[in-house]
Amino acid sequence: MQAANRLVAQILETLESAVAPGVTTADLDALAEKLVRDGGAVPAFKGYRGFPATLCTSVNAEVVHGIPSQKRPLVDGDIVSIDIGVKLDGFYGDSALTVPVGTVPERTRELLTVTRQSLERAISQVKVGGRLSDIGHAVQEWVEAHGFSVVREFVGHGIGEALHEEPQIPNYGTPGRGPRLAEGMVLAIEPMVAMGRPEVKVLRDGWTAVTKDGSLAAHFEHTVAVGTDGPLILTARPVPSAAQH
Ligand code: MG
Ligand code: MG
Repeated sequence: MQAANRLVAQILETLESAVAPGVTTADLDALAEKLVRDGGAVPAFKGYRGFPATLCTSVNAEVVHGIPSQKRPLVDGDIVSIDIGVKLDGFYGDSALTVPVGTVPERTRELLTVTRQSLERAISQVKVGGRLSDIGHAVQEWVEAHGFSVVREFVGHGIGEALHEEPQIPNYGTPGRGPRLAEGMVLAIEPMVAMGRPEVKVLRDGWTAVTKDGSLAAHFEHTVAVGTDGPLILTARPVPSAAQH
């Protein structure tokens, strides 16, 4: 699990620095697939229920599961969420982040910062004996305190020898509920946050989820193991990305 997720973290860091005005999401996808295969891994999303690419790239009001495209280059002021999964030696890694393209408005930067912080607060709930719903509660509390909303239709998940394992991990809820966390469990925690209303719809491509009200959305994800002494962030990046945003 560490090797697969370390590779994910390294690739995501490279992709983050490749984001710029004029770059297309298809460019990012091509780079990602090369790096995955150079790392001895295979893309986890490509072919998953027919998904066509290595990355999910979700621009602006797209929340998750956007399909990389050559059609529209990123422009200054966009935000783009990049989600990558790999399989390496039988084990899966999964992580995502949202990157500003060039200069974005202050409230947009807040959306990214608050979503990333909500993930950090969720991760701080990962401990032996902790309750599953404490994770989602931590996300919801932080997000709503800043005037944003939590997308309900998609959830985090257990991860290991399959990309999606039990348990499902909603990003909202009442604390103190659900299974107790045990040492060695590995969880992909992934808050999805909208600037406006939380409702989403899926576009006619069958994949791309967008906010119904067209408001911007952000997505951050880490794969985290329940360690003896607390959370082990298996997809931690050397320089905490977005820390500067
Ligand atoms: Mg993911
Ligand atoms: Mg995931």
